[in-house]
Amino acid sequence: MKSTWVQSRPGRRLRAALQRGAQSALEFLAPRHCELCGGHIGMTQRRFEFACDACVDALPPAPAPAELLNRPAARAGHASTALDAVYARFLLCREAHTHELIHALKYRGCRRIGLEFGAELARTLRHMDFDDVDALVPVPLHAARQRERGFNQAEYLARGAAAVLQIPVYPHALRRGGYTASQTGLTALQRQDARRRNFRPGPQAAALRNAHVLIVDDVFTTGATVNACAGTLREQGVRRIEAAALAAAE
Ligand SMILES: [Zn+2]
Repeated sequence: MKSTWVQSRPGRRLRAALQRGAQSALEFLAPRHCELCGGHIGMTQRRFEFACDACVDALPPAPAPAELLNRPAARAGHASTALDAVYARFLLCREAHTHELIHALKYRGCRRIGLEFGAELARTLRHMDFDDVDALVPVPLHAARQRERGFNQAEYLARGAAAVLQIPVYPHALRRGGYTASQTGLTALQRQDARRRNFRPGPQAAALRNAHVLIVDDVFTTGATVNACAGTLREQGVRRIEAAALAAAE
């Protein structure tokens, strides 16, 4: 046993040295920069690939779930929504770098930012009163928008969260668009609302009957979008519907 260990030690050292060398070469060739502050991400900052630890730690936390759940009800002007609970990880505010994070997620085309911060969202959910979810449903993009962007950031957040929570993702439970109703007589805000609310069941919706579903989105503002998604899922017989967003607006 001992001789094996003695023989293998130089091999392990060599492998470790090669790994360090390869990592250094990679950092030299393609140095990683924080998407939030632009600074270099050093070898010692390993929690996130796309943001330095200092930036992520400085992002303010989102409001409490109870406060978030009040938003769609307040906007709709009645006391109930189709949502049973709402969670978010960060607060989207002017003073913090959260906007840079959401911008990088949507427009830099980095699917891995979605996976990475979806996992971060899931780690937060684990510390909350959150349990027994059967399926993650990302808020879909309009087909044209998805073609233009190449991917749906909410789906990648959901996939990142799914890896941590060990819950399957249903990216085709909802469809977006097909909106044809007359827009005349509506204000710009009402038109925007009507477009946002235009969700219909997708091919995976039937499999979610009686399920407990978590809708995943990048940003939670008034809650109109996820509430519309929840309404469509409720009509399909989904039993309990919660929503989680990477960031909640102030
Ligand atoms: Zn940074």
